[in-house]
Amino acid sequence: MHESCRFPQGFTIERHRLKLAKLGWLKLTAHRKVKGRPTSVTVSREGGHWYAAIACEVELSSPQRREIAEVGVDLNVATGAVTSGAQILPMPRTSPEEMRQLARLQKSLARKKKGSRNRLKARRALARFHAKLARRRRNAAHVISHQLTEQHTHIAFEDLRLTNMTASARGTVEQPGRNVAAKAGLNRAILDVSPGQIRSMTKYKAAWAGGECVEVDARHTSQRCSECGGHPRDDATTNHLPHGRVARDRFVCPLCGHEVHADINAARNILALGRARWAALRTTAGGAPVAACGGLSSKRAREAGSKDQGMKRLAA
Ligand SMILES: [Zn+2]
Repeated sequence: MHESCRFPQGFTIERHRLKLAKLGWLKLTAHRKVKGRPTSVTVSREGGHWYAAIACEVELSSPQRREIAEVGVDLNVATGAVTSGAQILPMPRTSPEEMRQLARLQKSLARKKKGSRNRLKARRALARFHAKLARRRRNAAHVISHQLTEQHTHIAFEDLRLTNMTASARGTVEQPGRNVAAKAGLNRAILDVSPGQIRSMTKYKAAWAGGECVEVDARHTSQRCSECGGHPRDDATTNHLPHGRVARDRFVCPLCGHEVHADINAARNILALGRARWAALRTTAGGAPVAACGGLSSKRAREAGSKDQGMKRLAA
């Protein structure tokens, strides 16, 4: 249950209250100070709470020239975010107790008579619980994206289509799904980790800092060796060998014997692909750095950006 409404004008913000057109003064609990010039207010309801997101325009001083620091990031459901620099940034997982509580709340809702007052209460309790989990995921995504963009100017992600990964495991009549139970578990885990959220937050934070962020085709990045660059299928003489991903977290190259955590191996392959992309971007841009994705969205921001003075949109 998520509804929202945007007020592009007709609002007044004070320290402890907010005035909205047609609604009048409302009590406001500000979670941080409003900086810059407010441009709109978006009011939303989540799990029985009302939230006001205040978008502001803030003049940024030109991003300081930083040493180029490149990183590849493997986002996966088991570990969270793993970098080519062997950093592991974990995500909170739904605990077994929370899964039980979720099941309890769902069952309780199903038992209530339609249209009854008790059913409404049960629905609200379930929505509150979902909202709590969503807040925790969002928080963790903020922490991870902050760490990535603070330590690196160039960040490469795999272009994983979340929709493919969470697509129904049940399959169709013609093609019944395999591993239904395992994939259902995987879906839940993906929703725990929210890779899409981490990537989109990293993109805009990188753009604020004048960095670059790319998504690369990640096929075989978990099977290829990041040390020798090889894959058994590259050559007819090694074609019979299995690839090096011998366990969920273990990679041993059948060609050169290199041994490394499987997620770090994938992150290093992603970095190599990202480097190729950045090199190509630099050539086409005639040496000037290019923001490859995300970031400055408004026209004013783009104009300001060309004068080496970015504009930041933030939700307070
Ligand atoms: Zn190798």
